[in-house]
Amino acid sequence: MHSYPKSHVKAALLATAFLAIVITALPAHQSESPSEAPVSLQLEVAGTANVVSVNELPVKQEQMEASNSRWINMTIQPGDNLARIFKRNKLPAADLQNIVNLGKPVSSLRKILPGQKLGFKITSSGELLAIQYKKNALDTLLIHRQDQSFVASWQSATPETIVAFESAKITKENPSLYHAGKAAGLSDNIIMQLSHIYQWDISFALDLRAGDSFSLMFEEIYVDGELVKEGSIIAAVFTNMGKRHEAVKYIDIEGHSDYYTPEGLSMRKAFLRDPVHFSYVSSSFNLRRLHPIHKKVMPHRGIDYAAKRGTPVLASGDGKVTTRRQNSASGKYIVIQHGEQYTTKYLHLSAFGKGIKPGKSVKQGQTIGYVGATGWATAPHLHYEFLVTGVHRNPKTVSLPKALPIARDELERFRDSVSPVLARLESISGKGYASLPPGDRSSGG
Ligand SMILES: [Zn+2]
Repeated sequence: MHSYPKSHVKAALLATAFLAIVITALPAHQSESPSEAPVSLQLEVAGTANVVSVNELPVKQEQMEASNSRWINMTIQPGDNLARIFKRNKLPAADLQNIVNLGKPVSSLRKILPGQKLGFKITSSGELLAIQYKKNALDTLLIHRQDQSFVASWQSATPETIVAFESAKITKENPSLYHAGKAAGLSDNIIMQLSHIYQWDISFALDLRAGDSFSLMFEEIYVDGELVKEGSIIAAVFTNMGKRHEAVKYIDIEGHSDYYTPEGLSMRKAFLRDPVHFSYVSSSFNLRRLHPIHKKVMPHRGIDYAAKRGTPVLASGDGKVTTRRQNSASGKYIVIQHGEQYTTKYLHLSAFGKGIKPGKSVKQGQTIGYVGATGWATAPHLHYEFLVTGVHRNPKTVSLPKALPIARDELERFRDSVSPVLARLESISGKGYASLPPGDRSSGG
């Protein structure tokens, strides 16, 4: 049985939600709990005069019955439950009881979610004939009247995965990864995936230039010819300031999926280049900077990332929180120790992340706080410092330790797996060396 990868959808939704947050820098909107939210129901009535919107559901309406019955289709709204929907549509409570009594096959109806589709087939005299509940793009519950009772069955559609290809360019009009991606028709989800793949190599806040370009191959999942969701990026190439960065997805022997260079080096590094996504650098590392408040030359031993107040600040690497404090200069700030050598500091936060306190271990990319303007700050920004054995280094240029490459004894399997993908990416992105085996171009690029 094919199972719909629900966690994947969730991850995609989360990614999209996260992207929305980092772009707009608005606090995450907590959807109200189903029992408390106000009820509003959007009805799409498919009568004889209307265009039949039941087409959205996989089961076709029987033409013969169209004259004396009709479908009422609706999108489930926040706060809806089946009892309310029955009541609102003046459907008999006895029918609801009979349906609920069907037990396990209809247990999903107890957990209906906003955005899902529900349809009722009703006779002209108001008798309920059938229900269709589209749980997700693949699974639909069908309930039909049989005499005084009902029978339930599930229908599953078969998804089809198609590999899509897209290219985009950084221009004056579209200077950010987000804008260039949007201009090329990419979704927030795919742009977010791309930014994650390259977050160790390219500082999207610092490094993008007009003329940079990227191409990528990614999965699209179709059901009945309709795009239902995007899968993951399979391969990508990002040309940044003349340098090509290729990345390809690989699932290793143990089933772990990750991104690698064509040579089998991990795209991951021990530190992210930017601890804030989709921000811009307002002040660089500069040991002879004129301080904006004190109006005298004071070293700027870090990078300032301008971003809206509330934008999540991420731990740039795995480590342990050593300090969570507030003072008049730094405002609310956090210090993280990464192993013996490395320390990172995050200043001027508006708030600390949940559970962030001294002694607490954090993961790379975890939200540790939120951008603010506490302490000596003229506008919301993150002041970020990177120290190697106690010495301030420029986070932009310091060489970062890498994650593990593909194991030597797995290299052949890796090459067999990724070569056709890379060859295809290169041929469609217009690069000439697609015919060379991967081993022959390790010195190129
Ligand atoms: Zn600063």
